[in-house]
Amino acid sequence: GLAHELRQPLQAISLAVENAQIASEQYGDTELERRLLRIAAQAERAGKVVEHLRRFARGAEDAAPLEPVRLDALVEETLLIAGGALRHAGITVETDLGDPAPVVRGQLVPLEQVLTNLLLNARDALTDRPKGAPRRIRIVASVAAGGVARLSVSDTGGGIAPGVLRRLFEPFVTTKSAEVGTGLGLSICHGLAQAMGGTLEGANDEDGAVFTLTLSVWTVADALAERAAAE
Ligand code: ADP
Repeated sequence: GLAHELRQPLQAISLAVENAQIASEQYGDTELERRLLRIAAQAERAGKVVEHLRRFARGAEDAAPLEPVRLDALVEETLLIAGGALRHAGITVETDLGDPAPVVRGQLVPLEQVLTNLLLNARDALTDRPKGAPRRIRIVASVAAGGVARLSVSDTGGGIAPGVLRRLFEPFVTTKSAEVGTGLGLSICHGLAQAMGGTLEGANDEDGAVFTLTLSVWTVADALAERAAAE
């Protein structure tokens, strides 16, 4: 409800700014245009926070049934969305997803959201590195003991700042500038992983950050239960 109430005035602000921009262009008032751009950027940022809030609330409410998700398909689909941004930043992506890749109990769209977020965070860390430093992301899928599978995303971005590591999944924790970061991404991803019965953890290795998503493996019993429910 809150997200909805905030969205409308924000859209009105954005539209009003757009109209003023058109008018100032006609009169050639560059100073006014510069200020309008700042208003537009702030309205956009507020809009992003509202959108995050909306997804956050929806993620918690969403009781959609879990389905089998192949981790290779998940990675492939997500790279279709995020791959362009990574290539543009000069990042190489290596994958090792197993043959056959694990199949987990989850939901494709929230999982794509989590993976996209992890990849774009890695991109941000990598583009902050000095020129010439290696820019690599590695995505690895594996089956572990206890009927779980893991998907890890590691990068060569130098790692998570110690002060952030302790509060990584708390909302509004960010080291990015106000225009870029909201500090909501990882808290939402954490919530989505939990809603699917899984976990999300973050740590550092010698090159950079490592995020590990753990989910239950989709079993024959799951498939039978699904079929019984459908009948
Ligand atoms: P945002 O991206 O808006 O800052 P997130 O919740 O996604 O919000 O991330 C919170 C913070 O965690 C980031 O600002 C950054 O400091 C840190 N972080 C996340 N991913 C990485 C990474 N791959 N490498 C280094 N730091 C990271």
